[in-house]
Amino acid sequence: MKITYVDLDGVVADFEKGRREHPLSDVTPYKGRPDKLPGVYENLTPIKGAVDAVNFLLNDPNFDVYFLSTAPWDNPEAWTHKRLWIAKYFDEKRIRKRLILSHHKHLLIGDYLIDDRRFNGASEFQGIWLKFGSDEYPNWDVTLKYLLKA
Ligand SMILES: [Mg+2]
Repeated sequence: MKITYVDLDGVVADFEKGRREHPLSDVTPYKGRPDKLPGVYENLTPIKGAVDAVNFLLNDPNFDVYFLSTAPWDNPEAWTHKRLWIAKYFDEKRIRKRLILSHHKHLLIGDYLIDDRRFNGASEFQGIWLKFGSDEYPNWDVTLKYLLKA
């Protein structure tokens, strides 16, 4: 059973689109700090293919899947919104108690981390970091294929 961590923003949830479409995104103090935008995490659109791919992994007995995301310290409502967001798109029975919010992703023990950025410990993860959106793992199609073959 491969312990697999899946980041949210930029991997499963389209934060960039949410930021762009937020009415306050160009206003001080949110310009340059989109993670502080009120409610920005609440209604994000899923990334193409993400819901199907993660559901596939959640239902595959060879994978033990957890969401591993960082919620902004200074935007406490984001912590709640992330919890509610995954319940909107994934089967409650499969994802229940499988959300880990941490600024120290390198402390988690596991086989894979699917993450689009190196921050909050992602690049120091002791398992294999699949850098989502990179040339190697540009999308869910390629990433899922790799995981199922590995
Ligand atoms: Mg991310």
